[in-house]
Amino acid sequence: MATAPSSIELRNVSKNYLGSEAVDSVSINIHKGEFVVLVGPSGCGKSTILRMIAGLEQPTSGEIFLDGKDATSLEPKDRDIAMVFQTHALYPHMTVLQNLEFGLKLKGHYSSSEIRERVRETVEILDLEPILDRKPKHLSGGQRQRVALGRAIVRKPRIFLFDEPLSNLDAKMRNQMRVEFGRLHTRLQATMVFVTHDQTEAMTMGDRIICLADGRIQQVGTPMELYSHPANEFVASFIGVPPMNIFAAQWTKDGLFFEKAGASFPVSPNFAAMFRTMPRVLIGVRPEFFTVSSASPKSIPVTVEVIEPLGSETLLYTQCNDLSLVVRVSPLAKYEVGEKLYLSLDECNIHLFDISTGAGLL
Ligand code: ADP
Ligand code: MG
Repeated sequence: MATAPSSIELRNVSKNYLGSEAVDSVSINIHKGEFVVLVGPSGCGKSTILRMIAGLEQPTSGEIFLDGKDATSLEPKDRDIAMVFQTHALYPHMTVLQNLEFGLKLKGHYSSSEIRERVRETVEILDLEPILDRKPKHLSGGQRQRVALGRAIVRKPRIFLFDEPLSNLDAKMRNQMRVEFGRLHTRLQATMVFVTHDQTEAMTMGDRIICLADGRIQQVGTPMELYSHPANEFVASFIGVPPMNIFAAQWTKDGLFFEKAGASFPVSPNFAAMFRTMPRVLIGVRPEFFTVSSASPKSIPVTVEVIEPLGSETLLYTQCNDLSLVVRVSPLAKYEVGEKLYLSLDECNIHLFDISTGAGLL
């Protein structure tokens, strides 16, 4: 079911509500046929951006281009965009089939054979055949969400906008639907913008992720770029579960002094050179980059406080004086609560952030 996808460009788009910037000078370039995830905490401006792309909201300043044409003041109905929300708007008195047909019939310019063909394709894509005669109240949450998606697909829009469509589903259904969205994108080849506050959805679904906080873009990149090279402390702690360990350190003659741990960690002269102008920094280490080692000047002594076996991996919540460190270890290794361990880390896996601005330094 081919659609002709559109590109989307936002140029310095801002939206002011009641004197504060819900969206602050956001510039985004989304290519034709791309699957982009807009991720950030609740209230950071994600829905406002989607609503401006759909034309349901006007930017206070800035421009929006669809397929290279200025669409800033285009009516929503002339944008050829379908939006799917968290709460799926189905007509309760209509069957699934009628729900799928209704939007097309309302438009008035599709023949009944065209409607039948579009519905048939959509039913096949989403596997809706077994539930076509049911009314929404006899459907599960996941089925309702599939029908809501179907109502968007029958329209063959040039752009799909999804606003947290999986938030109301249980964990198992969310995982299943994440995979379905991937398949759907491959099959439809349409431009898709998917909004979520859930970093796992962002990491697993997007070709590219746009990470937002306080109405501003923090970083744009592939999931692995954001994970491996976070632009700042916000992205570093937002992307990744459990989050990156981030703590303050000072440069002393003995190496890096981890303040809360009261312990020093020797580093190479090259690494040390970075601290000449910046004696105090934030250090970031992902839980998987510690290695449990033997006692040495290059290791940090910790005590295991909590053990979380997750099946495919085990998390150790450890403590070194006032410094808490989460460590990811193999599920096959045996540890005990209260056990003393030594952690070492490779300096090439250390992230550094400016202690006052949070900006990445490496
Ligand atoms: P998100 O979708 O990321 O949770 P929103 O885009 O809904 O965030 O909201 C961003 C900010 O704008 C929030 O502080 C919200 O309270 C505010 N906001 C959104 N819509 C309106 C509105 N119609 N009137 C006033 N403030 C609004
Ligand atoms: Mg929202």
